[in-house]
Amino acid sequence: MSDTPPTTPYTQPAGGSNPEPRQNSTPVASKKPPRFSVFGSVQTIATYAFLLATLFTLFTPDNLFSDQMLNRVFQAWQANPTEIAQLASTAQAPAAESLPIGIVAGHWKNDSGSVCSDGTTEEQVNLTIATLVQQSLTAQGFKVDLLEEFDTRLGGYKGLLLLSIHNDSCDYINDQATGFKVAAAAHTENPEKATRLTACLTDRFARDTGLGFHSGSITNDMTYYHAFDEIDPQTPAAIIETGFLNLDKQILTQHPDVVAQGIVDGILCYVHNESVSTTVVPTP
Ligand SMILES: [Zn+2]
Repeated sequence: MSDTPPTTPYTQPAGGSNPEPRQNSTPVASKKPPRFSVFGSVQTIATYAFLLATLFTLFTPDNLFSDQMLNRVFQAWQANPTEIAQLASTAQAPAAESLPIGIVAGHWKNDSGSVCSDGTTEEQVNLTIATLVQQSLTAQGFKVDLLEEFDTRLGGYKGLLLLSIHNDSCDYINDQATGFKVAAAAHTENPEKATRLTACLTDRFARDTGLGFHSGSITNDMTYYHAFDEIDPQTPAAIIETGFLNLDKQILTQHPDVVAQGIVDGILCYVHNESVSTTVVPTP
C-alpha cells in the first residue's frame, strides 16, 4: 500500500502547502435528491416554533413569546428557505424514523441451526451478520433491536420493519445450491410494503455480495416463518437466507461485513423509498 496516485483529481488551493497526502475520498452514493417540500418546511417551522416556545416560556415571562416569534421564524424561512430546510432535514432525520428496526439473529439462543463438520454453526454465522447489521444501522441513527429467534419482544412487535437472518445447509446438495433467498410474510396487512422490502433486499444484496438469487427453494418455513404471526400485522416483515453454508461459506464466514452491507443497503433502500431496478421481485 505504498503506491500513491501520480495525479490527484482535485485542485489544490492556490498557495496551499499541505504536506499531508489527501485521503481517498470515495464519493459513495451521494446522489440523494434534496428533500424539500413546503409541507415539510411548515412542519419544521412548527417544530422549531414549539421548541422555541417551550424554551422561552421556561425562562422568561409568559408574555414574551407571542405571534411575533412565529412571524420572525416565518420571515427567516422566507429569506432563506433552503438553509432552514437543510437544517431541518439534518435535525429531523432520526426522529422521522423513530420506530425501531427489528433484526432477528436466526436460531440465536434457541438452537444451532445447520452445523458444519468443522463446528461452524448457522447460529454463529447469523449472529455475526445480524450484529454487524445492527451496528451499521445504529451508527446511522436508527434504533435497532437485535432479537433472539424466539424473543419475547416479538409479540406484537411494532417496527419500521422486521428482518430475520438465516443461512442454508452446510451439506453439499448440488452445484446449484448457492445464493440467497428473500421471502416476505405470507400474511401481512401491508403486502405492498412487504413486496418493496423484499425487492429492495434482493436488489441491494445481489449487488453488494455478487451472490445470485436462489429462487427455487423458498419454503413454507420462510413464508410462514413463526415470527410473522407474532409481530404486529402492520410491521412489514421478511426473512433472508444470506447463502448456503457449503458453497457460499467463504463469503459468509470470511466476509460477513460484505454480507451485512448487502442487508443494510437493502433496508436503507426500503426505508428511504429508493428505486429498485431488480428484475427478480419475490412476491409475498
Ligand atoms: Zn435457519
